[in-house]
Amino acid sequence: MILYIATPYGFCSGVKKSISLAEKVLSNEGEVYTLGALVHNPKVIEELSKKGIKILEKNGFVEGKALIVRAHGLPQRDIEFYRTLGNKVYDATCPLVKKVQILAEYLNKNKYKVVIIGEKNHPEVIGILSYTDDQGIVVENEDDIKKIENYPKIGIVFQTTQSLDNALQKVNLIMEKGKEIRIFNTICPETIERQEKAKKLSEMVDLALVLGGKNSANTRRLYITLSKKITTYHIENIEEIDKSWFKEDNKVGIITGTSTPNDFVEEVVELLKSLYPLEIHLV
Ligand code: SF4
Repeated sequence: MILYIATPYGFCSGVKKSISLAEKVLSNEGEVYTLGALVHNPKVIEELSKKGIKILEKNGFVEGKALIVRAHGLPQRDIEFYRTLGNKVYDATCPLVKKVQILAEYLNKNKYKVVIIGEKNHPEVIGILSYTDDQGIVVENEDDIKKIENYPKIGIVFQTTQSLDNALQKVNLIMEKGKEIRIFNTICPETIERQEKAKKLSEMVDLALVLGGKNSANTRRLYITLSKKITTYHIENIEEIDKSWFKEDNKVGIITGTSTPNDFVEEVVELLKSLYPLEIHLV
């Protein structure tokens, strides 16, 4: 069996930063809560909780504790609310997400109708929207675009994990809605790189494994890209793998979302090695 592993794999820089901040705060403060799950990956969350990093679920209430804002960011009003309760709030918002928040705020203040291309219920998008005083419009599908009125000035930003193809298709349709349109490409380069690798893998292999949380937007998008072309399985943990999927003459591809730990890749490689002799390439 030939195995192609798409690089980079494992955590992206934003996720690494948020986890290392949570660990540092835990060792300094003795107790730490993250405001929502730190990453969209149940396996990682389970390991963090064993270390003592607890999750404060939506609308949870704590006073006088150490709290971490996760990489996806949070509405500013929520951060202020927790501060007023005497909590110490540490901000691990990824700098790339922070940049989208700042741009959305800038556009809103300068009288642009802010359009965010992304998933309405995703925490990152909810956070960005708050920087427009909730006056922005979230576009998830073409029906959302049909509902947009005409505006003299429109400013467009993207959820960082959108696929470039999807975002550009939406931008084309929004173009007729405004006289002056400013577009900021806020898609994360690490996400774009993984999307490109997914396309490349789909030309090289006959079966692909996408490793990562089922609730992770960027991981789901990798699955969509690959499954359009080849047999693809989205795997959240090793137990989901069925050995009967594989044959000795398979060319198999592995790709991970940005919140998938390296050791999950290693675990899958070990399992495949136990099935057939394996020739491994990084792509
Ligand atoms: S995927 Fe990109 S934007 Fe999102 S946390 Fe990682 S580095 Fe930041």
